[in-house]
Amino acid sequence: MKYKIAVIYGDGVGPEVIGAAIKVLKALDLDAEYVEIKAGYEYWRQSGKPIEDGALDVIKDCNCILKGPLMTPPSPKSYRSVTITLRQVLDLYANVRPFKSFGRTSKKVDMIIVRENTEDLYSGIEFKIGSTAITLRIVSERASKRIARFAFELARREGRKRVTVVHKANVMKESCGLFRSAFFEVAKLYPEIQADELIVDAAAYRIVVAPETLEVLVTPNMFGDILSDVAAGVVGSIGLAPSANVGDKHAMFEPIHGTAPDIAGKGIANPIASILSAAMMLSHLGEVEKAKAIESAIDKLISDGRVLTPDMGGIAKTVDVANEVVRLARTILQLQH
Ligand code: ATP
Repeated sequence: MKYKIAVIYGDGVGPEVIGAAIKVLKALDLDAEYVEIKAGYEYWRQSGKPIEDGALDVIKDCNCILKGPLMTPPSPKSYRSVTITLRQVLDLYANVRPFKSFGRTSKKVDMIIVRENTEDLYSGIEFKIGSTAITLRIVSERASKRIARFAFELARREGRKRVTVVHKANVMKESCGLFRSAFFEVAKLYPEIQADELIVDAAAYRIVVAPETLEVLVTPNMFGDILSDVAAGVVGSIGLAPSANVGDKHAMFEPIHGTAPDIAGKGIANPIASILSAAMMLSHLGEVEKAKAIESAIDKLISDGRVLTPDMGGIAKTVDVANEVVRLARTILQLQH
């Protein structure tokens, strides 16, 4: 086999949507072995562990990870988020989240949020002093420059004209101030790309009222997490938004949505975010033809409007969408040969 792909199906709708993505990959004859890694809330309830022993070694031996959403109970006594742990341990420092309107809104949205993935309020450094709880916000120059460089390189590769740093440096003068100044220092290396800035609250407003004016946003961890859900709402459904977590050695691909417990097990979750995450994985592996065929298939599926899940106003099941993507992508690939 050419590729070894670690698969974490996840909780809630995870097995349904990741199952659909793997169905598409298999139908397009990707030369890959799929290695399942057990993790998440259900696994923890059965085994007392949030992820299988030895999982990290298996993952490091794979070309990349395809992952569904995982549930982490909010109680301080439960385990630390497996997703955040994997991002930190594998140093997956860039979280890339493209948002496209696919013709479903009056505005043509085509924006990418690049979220720093290892620091900020998600560093996991928390404690209590008496009855006061403290979470430390860690922002290093190294990580801030690294994510800024990643965003500019992405913009250059994709032919984008502008990169916008999102921050709250007017209030958090140290941590956001550092993130902002690292960005503008890196920007000098990319004179052909316009570098500008938005305060996070203004960024949230802009994403809602004028998303078509945004190209690439680069944000600290928590702002990116929240703004991504806003952007997903703007483009029509959180079930449409894929993501990549990329480091220098490893990469993990996952839908941005959560476990959607309200619809889990009903067979109606939208698999498009997971299938597009699989397409991002294919591009990362250099399987560009297959990746583009999937993306074009999804464009067509959405513009046809016949096979859509209820979150997009349709009545189709998860499996119907996967089958239709397979049919369209195969046609596109056959036409090319
Ligand atoms: P978690 O605690 O895992 O984050 P959540 O319910 O808080 O779960 P999401 O899972 O992101 O957050 O769900 C938010 C809303 O979006 C829910 O109404 C859910 O049903 C819907 N949703 C999420 N993913 C999908 C999907 N793939 N298809 C359709 N609807 C979805």
